[in-house]
Amino acid sequence: MGARFEVELASSHALSPSVKSLVFRRCDGEPMQFAPGQFVNLLTSTGDKRSYSIASAPDGGSSFELAVTRVEGGLFSNELHQLEPGSRLTAVGPEGLFTRKAEDERPSLFVGTGTGVAPLRSMIAAALATGSQAPMRLLFGVRTEADVFYESDYRSWAQQANVKVQVTLSRASNDWSGRRGYVQHHLEEVLSELGQPDVVQVYICGLTKMVAEVKELARGKLALPRRHVHVERFD
Ligand SMILES: Cc1cc2nc3c(=O)[nH]c(=O)nc-3n(C[C@H](O)[C@H](O)[C@H](O)COP(=O)(O)OP(=O)(O)OC[C@H]3O[C@@H](n4cnc5c(N)ncnc54)[C@H](O)[C@@H]3O)c2cc1C
Repeated sequence: MGARFEVELASSHALSPSVKSLVFRRCDGEPMQFAPGQFVNLLTSTGDKRSYSIASAPDGGSSFELAVTRVEGGLFSNELHQLEPGSRLTAVGPEGLFTRKAEDERPSLFVGTGTGVAPLRSMIAAALATGSQAPMRLLFGVRTEADVFYESDYRSWAQQANVKVQVTLSRASNDWSGRRGYVQHHLEEVLSELGQPDVVQVYICGLTKMVAEVKELARGKLALPRRHVHVERFD
């Protein structure tokens, strides 16, 4: 179990109709130390806890960003969406083994749906901050055009020859010219862009059903070594 500390909401804004970015700051001013991909637990008013992957890269400062989906009927995610800047919460962490070293130069495929992209964003941003030349592909799935978020990151990452982002929509409008359907349908093609299947590392994050299907595909049909497939589930 990680350390317990107080955090204050510094700012929040909508990323999409159902997702909010929440930037918290440690009240003790200590640096927020974590490995890209880890999560923090926030304590609810009833003493329960909910885990949230850190969406920002570690930068030595005391702030960190979360991306929170408002779950219909969900207790705490709705509270977080209503939280006012200046509000304080108790955090415990960081925790989690779903991590990637920023200096890792092996080709990496990141697969996320919805806010499952949060820890993947942390991993990619941390790698790019070190000047990494690792070939990286992000396959990001959401329902509609309106549900896509972090586009400005994707545009800035696209300036780097080693990074490409592919967005796929499961309920695209007729105007959408990008990929359609679930991430599962595009995995093989995006993976093939990275070459060297025996060294590619795959990082998968989102809800259990997607994670299980992508993991099965990666280890089964695509025959990736088990230890190269890393997963994090939100539910
Ligand atoms: C390691 C880890 C990291 C996580 N990171 C994030 C994150 O970065 N961002 C984020 O938004 N959530 C994340 N979650 C999910 C989060 O911890 C809560 O489960 C979520 O916010 C729902 O809490 P709630 O109190 O609103 O709903 P509850 O009242 O606890 O339950 C509502 C139901 O919603 C399901 N559920 C949980 N998450 C989702 C989801 N995203 N979409 C649809 N249904 C869901 C639960 O399984 C449950 O059945 C993470 C979970 C884990 C275990």
